[in-house]
Formats: sequence, structure tokens, C-alpha cells
Amino acid sequence: MDAEPYHADPSLKGKLRRRLVRLQHRRPAGPRLGAPLVSFSFDDAPVSAFTTGARVLERHGARGTYFVCAGTAGQAGFVGQLGDRADILHAQANGHEVACHTYSHLDFGRADTAAATNDLDRNTATLEAWGVARPKTFAYPYGDVRPRAKRVLADRFTLARALHPGVIEGGVDLAQAPAVGVEGEDGEARALHWMDQAVRRKAWLILFTHGVEDEPTRYGCTTSVFERLVAEAVARDFEIVTVAEGARRMKVAA
Ligand SMILES: [Zn+2]
Repeated sequence: MDAEPYHADPSLKGKLRRRLVRLQHRRPAGPRLGAPLVSFSFDDAPVSAFTTGARVLERHGARGTYFVCAGTAGQAGFVGQLGDRADILHAQANGHEVACHTYSHLDFGRADTAAATNDLDRNTATLEAWGVARPKTFAYPYGDVRPRAKRVLADRFTLARALHPGVIEGGVDLAQAPAVGVEGEDGEARALHWMDQAVRRKAWLILFTHGVEDEPTRYGCTTSVFERLVAEAVARDFEIVTVAEGARRMKVAA
């Protein structure tokens, strides 16, 4: 995590690039699913995501996905105190997915391709040295990317997750997949709205948050909201899958 404001390049150039890159290097998902899927993911992965978040999911027999930056693990971030190596290994041992969020929380909308590639290599190497399996999926810090770096990611990961809201169904780009944030005061309502969409369209919804705690940061959600959303997913017969498992089900269309 860096000291910059927690958002993508706000310039006009940045906005235009974000529109154009979504049309390039696409990996369209295969046909729609028979039943809706939902994934619960945690970006940066604060300690509370590894403790409270995991506990809530495990109580329902479910597992989550932790998008981690090895370079910031164990540090204090503005999304909360981040989980360290032990937290990450503990999650993996309990069947959760440990996934890639760059090494240094690098903004792929601003970094050049060489810097982006080096950063990915470093995250993978560090995680592997820690005993973490090679990540299969990725989440873009700030949701942003340049076209050439997107192509690198599309070749390395089965799915790269962005931050624009939506559900995943046939034709949706798995190299820049939509996700819905459970953050802030309207996080729960937004998640429920998109769960409705996923049920109606027999689609896959990826939810993300950061910390799960009684007094969350503006990027996290409360324990009770998280509990209600997981219970709602179970009640509505969603299958709760890790992001890697969801990507496997939505095989890239030929
Ligand atoms: Zn992040």
C-alpha cells in the first residue's frame, strides 16, 4: 500500500484509458451457469479478514479468496492492520484461496509493463518462498490497468478482477472481471442488489471488501453485515466458491 489516495488515476487520460482497455485483450467467459455462484473476497487482506471473515465463511462450510501483496503483509495500512505470513499460511491451510494483488500494491494503470511484470514475479516468488501455492487469480489494485500489462495478466492468471460492478456470465471478460464492493454505508444494499441480479441471470457474483470488524474503515464492512450476506447467500441457494473455482467453472469461451 502506498501513501497515494486510494483511487485510480483521476486524469482525463486515465479515464479514457480505463474505457479503452476494457475492449482489449479480452478473455470472454463461457456460457452461463446452471445455478448462481458467489465469491467473497478480501483485498489487501487485513487481519480481521483472516480472523472474523474466515470464521463467518467457515461456519457455513464456505471459503474465501484473499488478494494479498507480500510486500505489505504485516504492515499497518489505511484499510487496517494487514495480515502477515502466518495469517496467509493459516488461511491456505484451512482451504481458502490465496491470490495475487501485486507485491507492492502497484497501480497497473500507471506502471509500465516491465515494472508490472517484475512486481508480479516478486510477489509470486515471495509467496512461494513462504510456502504459498502459486496464485491462480489476481485483483488489480485501484481496479486499473494498461493494455499491455492486461495481456501479461491474462496469460498468467485464470481471472483478473477489477472494481467495476457487475455479474459474470457468458461473454464477460475474465481478464478484467467485474466485482461489487461491500464497503461503506450502502455496501450491504449494493451487495443484495447484485445478488438479485446473479440469481435472475444464473450468473457469478464476486463480492469484495477489506476488513471485517465491528468498527470498519470506510473500505471494510461490519461483522454483522458480513454475517448477513453470507447467510443470505446460503438461504438463496448460491454456491459459495473461491474466485479460482468460479473461474474454473466459467471456462474461457473458445
Ligand atoms: Zn488493494
